[in-house]
Amino acid sequence: MHDIVIVGAGTAGLSAAIYALRAGKSVLLLEQLTYGGQIVNTPEVENYPGIKSISGFDFAQGLYEQATSLGAELDFAQVTGIDNGEIKTVHAGGKDYECRAVIIATGAKNRPLGLPKEQELTGSGVSYCATCDGAFFRGKAVAVNGGGNTALEDALFLSNYCSKVTVVHRRDAFRGEEKLVQRLREKDNVEFELNATISALIGDDELTGIELSNTKSGEKKELAVDGLFIAIGQMPDNAAFASLVEVDPAGYIVAGEDCKTAVEGIYAAGDCRTKTVRQLTTAAADGAVAALAACAYIG
Ligand code: NAP
Repeated sequence: MHDIVIVGAGTAGLSAAIYALRAGKSVLLLEQLTYGGQIVNTPEVENYPGIKSISGFDFAQGLYEQATSLGAELDFAQVTGIDNGEIKTVHAGGKDYECRAVIIATGAKNRPLGLPKEQELTGSGVSYCATCDGAFFRGKAVAVNGGGNTALEDALFLSNYCSKVTVVHRRDAFRGEEKLVQRLREKDNVEFELNATISALIGDDELTGIELSNTKSGEKKELAVDGLFIAIGQMPDNAAFASLVEVDPAGYIVAGEDCKTAVEGIYAAGDCRTKTVRQLTTAAADGAVAALAACAYIG
């Protein structure tokens, strides 16, 4: 039995582990994929206070090494449910893990466009991760869909490899940082298709192009690209906890800045909870807040 089981080994989960371990508690992290969370896919992080620039992978690796050096245990298993009580039981990968408090830090996953052939063409021109797949498109023309920081950072990263990068965004104002937009505008090989959505993926076995629809005029046109990087935001994945804690209509666990859910001893930290700012800094902060609250609850 562990003092605290943390579901998810991203920035929030690993930060929670560091704080709980330093408070003398035993910690088990349960992760369904690989540690690090979404930031692993970010080429360059330039807005984490105190670190001028670092790759998302290096940032995550540092967090992981810090947590494990303090004694964090990590099991790879998908959590399917939690039984509440003074002793809580977390069900994952066919096993039962007992603990005194649980921190849910499941983050969010990439939102798909929902277009026909999107799944079939994923890995054959369609990607959700510029850091992972960008190098395959060296010297080729690609498009990035989205107007948030992920899309802008992906486009900057890809502009270093690709002959041409077209940023497709459904509005003419960007949700992401203006500084990133300016840097993209200074690049010779970056173009913008604004007020445009992607209405079709072209290609049978490999992506050869995308169909763009203008949101104002309704006009459609085709753009020849070898790669499409979809960066239109994230969706939470909290179905396993929906019968235990309150979940809002979008699927986020209802919890305030204190990371407390309506269930005693169960906390939600990072992108998986209801909040307005989803950033590395806020995920790390949530990890600290949730861990210290869990430590106080355990006593
Ligand atoms: P995001 O900020 O939610 O932006 C998603 C973008 O996709 C928006 O521009 C949105 O358009 C567009 N979009 C959403 N659904 C769409 C659809 N169905 N079709 C076409 N476009 C669609 O997501 P994100 O860029 O992944 O960033 C998520 C969070 O992580 C943000 O808080 C971001 O700041 C943060 N982040 C931080 C870092 C960092 O700290 N270095 C790096 C990357 C991301 P509208 O603008 O019109 O809604």
